[in-house]
Amino acid sequence: MNADVRAKLTPAFEQFIDSGWYILGSAVSAFEQEYAAWSGTTHCIGVANGLDALVLSLKALNIGPGDEVIVPSNTYIASWLAVSYVGATPVPVEPHAATCNIDPTLIEAAITPATRAIMPVHLYGQCCEMQQIVDIATRHGLHIVEDNAQAQGATCNGRLTGSFGAVNGTSFYPGKNLGAYGDAGAVTTSDPALDKRVRMLRNYGSEKKYYNEEKGINSRLDELQAALLSAKLPYLQQWNHERVQIAAWYNEALAGIPGLRLPQVAEGCTHVYHIYMVRTERRDELQAWLAGKGIGTLIHYPVAPHMQQAYADLGYKKGDFPLAEEIAATCLSLPLYPGLSFEAVQEIASHIKDLFR
Ligand SMILES: *Cc1c(COP(=O)(O)O)cnc(C)c1O
Repeated sequence: MNADVRAKLTPAFEQFIDSGWYILGSAVSAFEQEYAAWSGTTHCIGVANGLDALVLSLKALNIGPGDEVIVPSNTYIASWLAVSYVGATPVPVEPHAATCNIDPTLIEAAITPATRAIMPVHLYGQCCEMQQIVDIATRHGLHIVEDNAQAQGATCNGRLTGSFGAVNGTSFYPGKNLGAYGDAGAVTTSDPALDKRVRMLRNYGSEKKYYNEEKGINSRLDELQAALLSAKLPYLQQWNHERVQIAAWYNEALAGIPGLRLPQVAEGCTHVYHIYMVRTERRDELQAWLAGKGIGTLIHYPVAPHMQQAYADLGYKKGDFPLAEEIAATCLSLPLYPGLSFEAVQEIASHIKDLFR
């Protein structure tokens, strides 16, 4: 981390200790206002983590048992789990082969009379093709709930992720583009009624202490995490720019290697590269090769949600969502974080070229 940010975190931490107020105080309110403005929304509600942000968003829309929510077949399992936790059923739709985000042209075929919402996931940091998704939702009277855990700051036609849906969830898990120092998340909305509902639901269903209007949960953002997030938020734009620059270096250095697919960005969309994901049938071999050179890589994600043991009850089998399965079998995330140097990218790229040569 740069010394600049560290110099802001330390006083924020000391102020927090001295404040004597650790839950739902001025630091949370301040961060909520800052993050709402940053996201192009009017309201933000700080919650305990990204999964809760999605669960509370769905609950605020009264989505529950008997309802269906359209989700991508290619996503982190948390998107599906949020739908399951409110008692609704996730209905998977395959991704676009180029972007790996949900393919808008396949959504309508998955809509049934029980469908209540579409959950676009801006995976790896790329905004989904929201114009088409918004049009479909409007035509069918469906809600949009964005899973914006990976794409804070990405846009579609200039509009920010987290501002398209009626109510949307994001995560500040330490590894996300804006990371806390522990678990944290937020809901964004521009609807005052939904803001009020989520605010109540995250705090035991209570607006006035010890008076409970409904059965809520305890999912509050800590004062400490809020204070640290406020100190980091002014740097997020710059960090995203650095990520985009590093991705451009990779794109250039790795262009034209047969058998290696690089990330592709849809027209009108931007990508903030939470993850720089390449695809190759030689994935395991490439991962081991890079590990041998001291370069750590990750797989996001090795098993598609419909193939997870946790979703055995839905009865899907291998081959039901072939694109999601193919991505799970071929994806590899190369190192990418703000501060990664041009030279380091060149070195990683040259090792990759050596293997494919
Ligand atoms: C991280 C993540 C979540 C969940 O966030 P947590 O804060 O870890 O609960 C949800 N969806 C996606 C796509 C994520 O990457």
